[in-house]
Amino acid sequence: MSERPERFIIDGKRLDGRSFDELRPIKIELSPLDRADGSCYLEWGRNKVMAAVYGPRELHPRHRQNMTRAVMQFRYNMASFSVDDRIRPGHNRRSIEISKVSREAFEPVVFTKFFPKTAIDVFVEVLRADAGTRTAGINAASLALADAGIPMRSLVSACAVGKVDGEIVLDLMKEEDNYGEADVPVAMTVGEEITLLQMDGHLTPKEFYKALELAKSGCRQVYGLQRQALVEKYNKDYSVDEDDARSDAGGDSDE
Ligand code: ADP
Repeated sequence: MSERPERFIIDGKRLDGRSFDELRPIKIELSPLDRADGSCYLEWGRNKVMAAVYGPRELHPRHRQNMTRAVMQFRYNMASFSVDDRIRPGHNRRSIEISKVSREAFEPVVFTKFFPKTAIDVFVEVLRADAGTRTAGINAASLALADAGIPMRSLVSACAVGKVDGEIVLDLMKEEDNYGEADVPVAMTVGEEITLLQMDGHLTPKEFYKALELAKSGCRQVYGLQRQALVEKYNKDYSVDEDDARSDAGGDSDE
């Protein structure tokens, strides 16, 4: 683990040069996995995560089926090589907790009642971790669900806010996350209905409401990028190329 920095804010800027309300750069690639029904690769600062969605598909074993709705299953996993010290492979308390809260972040938005007896499986693999992996995983999963065509009331957008050197800041980097005074991951719908809210550390009620407002602005920015990624992909995949356009118009005809 890196050492605790003496100060997190120098001349009004954070250690990586960001201002208090600035996100790390986000890069999104939709459908990188052709074997999943939907997928998304997302980089957020130095985080790298892959999300894959399967379903709705019949749930086995059958005794786990719900007669009235789909069962959502979410598996968050950190690859052994995702951090400096190799992590022991397999589930641990942290990954079980993150899988649970991430699933609960989607249950209110997915129309599970349309798909009785089925499972909707979401897998998030963290390839490189640098703080904020649960929120990165949720953003990628949201796009993978949309890519799989699963009907949802809204995309879910997530980011963390926190407190360092007494200041409320958006999107904690590793040192801020590990040694800061508070870490608050938040996920919400486009209508600002909160589907995930956790808090590690201490905030006064006033600080908490300030942090929540900052999280809302962060989630709005993330939503803009998610929306843009979807629109660009489907625009490109289904754009009418010039040859098609000519044949549609009868221009290719030999007659
Ligand atoms: P999040 O990634 O959602 O911020 P945490 O606050 O639990 O979740 O973790 C913060 C960061 O600490 C992670 O992104 C990762 O960089 C690091 N980390 C978490 N667990 C481990 C671990 N077992 N070994 C090494 N680093 C870890």
